[in-house]
Amino acid sequence: MRDMEDCIFCKIVDKNIPSQIEVETTNLLVFKDINPQAEVHLLIVPKKHIADIREDMEEYWALIGKLAVKIALDKRLKSFRLVHNAGDGAAVKHMHVHLLGEVSKDREL
Ligand code: AMP
Ligand code: ZN
Repeated sequence: MRDMEDCIFCKIVDKNIPSQIEVETTNLLVFKDINPQAEVHLLIVPKKHIADIREDMEEYWALIGKLAVKIALDKRLKSFRLVHNAGDGAAVKHMHVHLLGEVSKDREL
């Protein structure tokens, strides 16, 4: 419970703090990353508070993938990257996938 109360993405989902929302579905919210690393940098977030893919490898993972592809097609991105940081690799412990576009093949990680 404490995790959810302190969770910035839960507050965004609940519209208690502002965000630049791009898409909203029954289960997902998509908003602009506050510190964009590409021209298009969106965060695709389950409305339900779960930490990362280890808590849901099926329902949300599939929904996020489908929505990411739809957004990439709608925006006519010629290239895009999906990134999911899990566990200690994530700054925000509410499952999210970064959609970055357009991107190059050259990258450090
Ligand atoms: P990570 O947990 O490392 O995968 O990344 C968390 C991401 O959330 C970072 O790219 C931040 O820029 C982004 N972020 C943090 N707070 C906000 C916010 N209030 N609105 C939008 N994006 C945010
Ligand atoms: Zn949360």
